[in-house]
Amino acid sequence: MKSSDQKGCSRRDFLKTAGAVGVSALASQPLFPQDAAAETDPNMTVPKRPFGKTGKEVSILSLGGMFDIPSNQIILKLAMKFGVTYWDTAHVYGNGVSETGIGKYFQSNPGDRSKIFLVSKAYAKDPEEMSVQLETSLQRMGTDHIDLYFMHGIGDTDPLTDDVRKWAETAKKQGKIKLFGFSTHQNMQTCLMSAAKLGWIDGIMTTYNFRLMHQNDMKEAVQACIEAGIGITAMKTQGGGSVKTVSDTEIQMAGRFVQKGFTDKQAKLKAVWENPDIASICSQMPNSTILMANISAALNKTNLASKDRELMHQYAMDTCSGYCAGCAYICEAEVQGRVPVSDIMRYLMYKETYGEREFSDFVETRMPKDIKQRIAAIDFSSAERRCPQKIEIGKLMRKASAMLA
Ligand code: SF4
Repeated sequence: MKSSDQKGCSRRDFLKTAGAVGVSALASQPLFPQDAAAETDPNMTVPKRPFGKTGKEVSILSLGGMFDIPSNQIILKLAMKFGVTYWDTAHVYGNGVSETGIGKYFQSNPGDRSKIFLVSKAYAKDPEEMSVQLETSLQRMGTDHIDLYFMHGIGDTDPLTDDVRKWAETAKKQGKIKLFGFSTHQNMQTCLMSAAKLGWIDGIMTTYNFRLMHQNDMKEAVQACIEAGIGITAMKTQGGGSVKTVSDTEIQMAGRFVQKGFTDKQAKLKAVWENPDIASICSQMPNSTILMANISAALNKTNLASKDRELMHQYAMDTCSGYCAGCAYICEAEVQGRVPVSDIMRYLMYKETYGEREFSDFVETRMPKDIKQRIAAIDFSSAERRCPQKIEIGKLMRKASAMLA
């Protein structure tokens, strides 16, 4: 049953409250009866979009699983209540804790599994290892299938071999996965473009945000995928940190968003959703405040004005040196591939956003053992000259090096 407060909460009140100030208070209301999902108000349910030409529809907001899910089951319940039914996890997230947490939720709420579009990822690139990781993921989550299975974090399509294609077909025939694709944070445009030509990729999760979405190569790559029937999920949609109020552009932008009742974070989501080719946004929402603010943005139908987009574009240009665009093929060629510059940039961002653990896991699993020596031995000045974002690569590599044990 809903509380009397909830019965009186109109959609407009909800948006005003959740979008501006009181999300944590709202989220702490007793919103979680056993039959919460059955009582969901369609007007307060996040909309869905077709996922490419797969025949599936997904919620336009996806719950990213890079948080302590076992201890935060209430977030999953809350996501369900508001129709955030696309859940994203990975074999490696939290060293398995993310998938175990989802399994814990399905165990307590078995009726909800069929309502969820469940995504997980294999870090492995070899079919045999992928099978092992898939079985582990199924077991951890207590489910017999994964709706969309990704090869995790590729920077080119070389790992998508014919053996992997056969592996994906077999896993589909066995019913263990329904769809197959990959996620990418590096060289996204070339990954998307060549995936569109493969003919057997169902879905892609790619870095995509207000900084990248207007670039011609990104527009062409997304278009090619759409024509190939590939569903696209955007991630890293915040494009770096929060908007400060240092420059004129930022002050103007912040003022316009406040007038409309948005935060800058919500506006960045809306900018991505305004492209109908993007099926969903995967967002890390580790607490109810962020989750409710994002739900509020997804329910809100006010569009950004052309002036808002213009200011965001100006802001993207003004602050480009603080954002790594993932074009690893440029800087890593300059250092002969000896240092994974783009990965390190991303993990520096993770460290600031998600804390120590992701950075430590990355160092443990992905960094060459002699990375400190490699960084110390390299002159990054030619990479800096070629970096389109004008990032101080040398300085940031030394900062990363200092963080390593
Ligand atoms: S450091 Fe510069 S060149 Fe390298 S991936 Fe980032 S934006 Fe691209």
